[in-house]
Amino acid sequence: PFRAAARIADIGVSEILQIGARAAAMRREGHNVIILGAGEPDFDTPDPVKEAAFRAMRRGETKYTALDGSAAMKEAVREKFRRDNGLDFSTGEISVSAGAKQVIFNAFMATLDPGDEVIVPTPYWTSYADMIRIAGGVPVLVACDAANGFRLTAASLERAITPATRWLMLNSPSNPTGAAYSEADYRPLLDMLLNHPHVWLLADDIYEHIVYDGFRFVTPAALEPAIRDRILTVNGVSKAYAMTGWRIGYGAGPATLIKAMSVVQSQSTSNPSSISQAAAIEALTGSQDYLVERRDSFRIRRDLIVDGLNAIDGIDCPCPQGAFYTFASCAGMLGRTTPQGRKIESDRDFCAYLLTEARVAVVPGSAFGASPFFRISYATSQEELREALTRIAAACAALA
Ligand code: PLP
Repeated sequence: PFRAAARIADIGVSEILQIGARAAAMRREGHNVIILGAGEPDFDTPDPVKEAAFRAMRRGETKYTALDGSAAMKEAVREKFRRDNGLDFSTGEISVSAGAKQVIFNAFMATLDPGDEVIVPTPYWTSYADMIRIAGGVPVLVACDAANGFRLTAASLERAITPATRWLMLNSPSNPTGAAYSEADYRPLLDMLLNHPHVWLLADDIYEHIVYDGFRFVTPAALEPAIRDRILTVNGVSKAYAMTGWRIGYGAGPATLIKAMSVVQSQSTSNPSSISQAAAIEALTGSQDYLVERRDSFRIRRDLIVDGLNAIDGIDCPCPQGAFYTFASCAGMLGRTTPQGRKIESDRDFCAYLLTEARVAVVPGSAFGASPFFRISYATSQEELREALTRIAAACAALA
């Protein structure tokens, strides 16, 4: 009989994927379900990016490339960091992989021994904790208050640090909350890291370009050069350039770490797709003009969702600074009873009710380690968002 390895035995399929599968099954049965679950922009990959891929194929760039990114790809990443973040990296300090996800996975595989701890502020992108576990490490989940905008405080960080801490994981703007760290938000955390030289920082900047209301995105490596030699800055083209399927992400950090990460990659996937690298070079070095248009479009949709949710009695939705998610409290719904006589006892119950009653798929906060909340991904059309809000409001009004 089949026996799964211990390292994955306790790791389930992501709840987000499960909800997506249930919603898709309902659609197949003929129900009109609105899915606000996926973390994926609804825009198409820009045409110049696609053209660059065609050109690369015609040039014959269909072979293995250098293990952790072609020279041209690394040069494009260097240019990106100089232009957007004022950071100068050498090519030996850059690693390119099949998505930001693989960059993070490589980093944990390359650095974690059994029992090593990684501090993960919650709510968090679920993959962090599971990747840490697969690598043999221990995720140390630290609750962050909604009242503090779901941001980690220096006091909580200090309490979580032990001699076994290897990494602090930060994600700004955040999936699932949309909360972002300003320079002032980062400062006390970076000061804390200055005092704890054994703790490294992994900064997941994947939502860098999706920020609103003039929020100034900053990245820790640019803010605190004194700890740059223990920061891995992770980013990618999936979210900003609507390139989730192309699978290109990159990391920049100390050459010793980058080299160890390339060992992991050399024995798993080798280089990321040559064609995708050519496309990503165009995305990173070509015109960036459409980023602003897309950001404006996301902001309009954010406002629509935030206002619509807050108009519903029992829902409280803070206004996110970035990404394309809202993370609203459904505390006011707990204890209410559905028309079928079932009591809503948790955010999971609430989301299950929305799926069956309103035919709207959203993800419970419990999937991200924080209850009672629910996440909406608003990267879909305004028309669909309006319809979803109408349905959610009606379903909530039907609760007694
Ligand atoms: N980091 C965060 C916070 C994310 O939400 C995602 C995707 O959902 C990723 C990283 C991974 O992006 P990719 O592997 O597509 O680059």
